[in-house]
Amino acid sequence: MYSQSEQCIPAKRALITGITGQDGLYLGQLLATKGYEIFGLVRGQSNPKIAMVEQIIPSIQLLEGDLRDLSSLIGAMEIAQPNEIYNLGAISFVGLSWKQAELTGEITAMGVLRMLEAARIHTQGDMSKVRFYQASSSEMFGKVRETPQSETTAFHPRSPYGVAKTFGHYITINYRESYGALACSGILFNHESPRRGFEFVTRKVSNAVARIALGLQDHVALGNLDVRRDWGFAGDYVEAMWLMLQQEELHDYVIATGETHSIWELLDIAFSRINIENWQAYVRQDPRFFRPAEVDVLVGDASRAWKELGWKPKVGFRELIEMMVDADLELERSKLR
Ligand code: NAP
Repeated sequence: MYSQSEQCIPAKRALITGITGQDGLYLGQLLATKGYEIFGLVRGQSNPKIAMVEQIIPSIQLLEGDLRDLSSLIGAMEIAQPNEIYNLGAISFVGLSWKQAELTGEITAMGVLRMLEAARIHTQGDMSKVRFYQASSSEMFGKVRETPQSETTAFHPRSPYGVAKTFGHYITINYRESYGALACSGILFNHESPRRGFEFVTRKVSNAVARIALGLQDHVALGNLDVRRDWGFAGDYVEAMWLMLQQEELHDYVIATGETHSIWELLDIAFSRINIENWQAYVRQDPRFFRPAEVDVLVGDASRAWKELGWKPKVGFRELIEMMVDADLELERSKLR
């Protein structure tokens, strides 16, 4: 593992984009326990999530900036003086990426280039001064060439999101090869938590199940129930991000559980948590939620991360879904008080 050599800087300093998102919050909490000085990039004049971030990570320093605006990213780096940069900011919802393809390209793809350029300008061309993590995605595999997918599997993205992430992935490698940047990508398979956005299927189900239990809604509308994914817990996955940046030599890693589950299984577990075994009457299939181009079964081979980083997921699928349903029951009950 690399160590802090500069005596004048007492703690490592990390700059996180996407701090208001699911992973940003877990990563910020993890780095706080490790004694980092943490800087988070927030966008907008009056971002409503600022109070929530400050409550969850009290030591954080928030900086204004936008992945569409290079000068704001350079400004953030000048204040943060980071040893490590975690670029988690993105339009991250695959479904939205078809409706707002140009914006997805602007933020999820070009935002990575701007962050790398900001780091290059900030370090005056010596990109070995800062370690850079890019949040790549299993959606880059799309129409999969082999199963399970590993670091050597070819990409065939099937959505504007997947295409944008593939650009971000390769431009990160390109800066490593062109400028000697200490930069790497984590090819992360789906990871969920009670902090997942409500638009994602796991959270949509956990929240709907909680509301059905409390008599607040009578069904949930979903797309293709046959879809299979490799779902892990976000808290485990941010640990992998951190471990990747602690290595002497930086490499790209697949981070996954290696297990695949269908939406049917997700529904079985979520409804059984509220003692409903026959859930068919509560679920409707709605063509609006089918993707224009579906990806195949995504399942990751994370053996390289297991071997070289010593990383393994701790939370299993059932535990994850039950955790999410329990948290949503608590959330929905608190709204009724
Ligand atoms: P998330 O909850 O959707 O968070 C996305 C973050 O990006 C939010 O903080 C959002 O800020 C920020 N953002 C959006 N547009 C921005 C802009 N123009 N400038 C600056 N920030 C902007 O995503 P997540 O689940 O935490 O995922 C973190 C990263 O990992 C993303 O890049 C995602 O694509 C990638 N990833 C996620 C998964 C997964 O399963 N979760 C899997 C593979 C890869 P606002 O709050 O202001 O909107």
